[in-house]
Amino acid sequence: MAKFYILVGPPGAGKGTQAVIIAEKCGIPHISSGNIFRENLQNETELGKKAKAFMEKGELVPDDITIGMVTDRLSQPDCEQGSLLDGFPRTPAQAEALSAFLEQHGKKINAVPLIDVPSDELIERLSGRWTCKAEGHVYHPKFKPPKKEGFCDLDDSELYQREDDKRETVEQRIRVYNQQTAPLIEYYEKKGLLRKIDGSQKIEDVTSDLLKVVEC
Ligand code: ADP
Ligand code: ADP
Repeated sequence: MAKFYILVGPPGAGKGTQAVIIAEKCGIPHISSGNIFRENLQNETELGKKAKAFMEKGELVPDDITIGMVTDRLSQPDCEQGSLLDGFPRTPAQAEALSAFLEQHGKKINAVPLIDVPSDELIERLSGRWTCKAEGHVYHPKFKPPKKEGFCDLDDSELYQREDDKRETVEQRIRVYNQQTAPLIEYYEKKGLLRKIDGSQKIEDVTSDLLKVVEC
């Protein structure tokens, strides 16, 4: 039986960090809409060109572009048995489109873990976030230092600071989350799928709480 999980939480909550760990442990693909957009930006594809200005401003890329991109990814054979979604859906229209897509394929969402972290902690995390060029793995000098400074533990690629992790863009992204994505909390709560996780704990403790929700 295929299993689909959606990680919800503000920028900097730790969705990407946790998704990499859980996807590896459980052997399910990690689908990060942000990572797919950044790959398209790097490769200067048509999709990347359309998304660029929105991403730079910390705004959401329009729903039609985003939904098409993620449903294409979910149509790949490796998602047949499920996936761990990170950063999608981010609007009610995306959530509806995802449900419709899964239903068409005889599949459903199993649970929606919400990783909750107060805003002041988000800013400290994001202003120190270092991201790997190859696959988007993330580090932090205080909370998750890489073994070799400036390089990814997992693939040895170089680490960089994302342009949209500068303070004013982070503040805009948190506003956008509160306005456009936070309504999904109630949406999934009503469906009985929401599971709240305290994201201000240490990385390992968040993982063990998540593993009580995500069944491998
Ligand atoms: P998101 O994908 O939700 O935006 P990330 O996983 O990229 O968040 O994490 C944002 C930053 O916070 C990264 O620098 C990461 O190393 C750090 N981080 C992730 N989880 C924790 C945690 N539980 N405690 C402290 N820092 C964390
Ligand atoms: P974070 O987890 O740090 O908020 P992401 O890497 O998930 O950031 O997203 C980076 C940017 O990519 C967003 O600010 C937005 O411009 C775009 N993006 C990612 N996912 C979506 C989505 N589901 N809908 C619209 N835009 C998105």
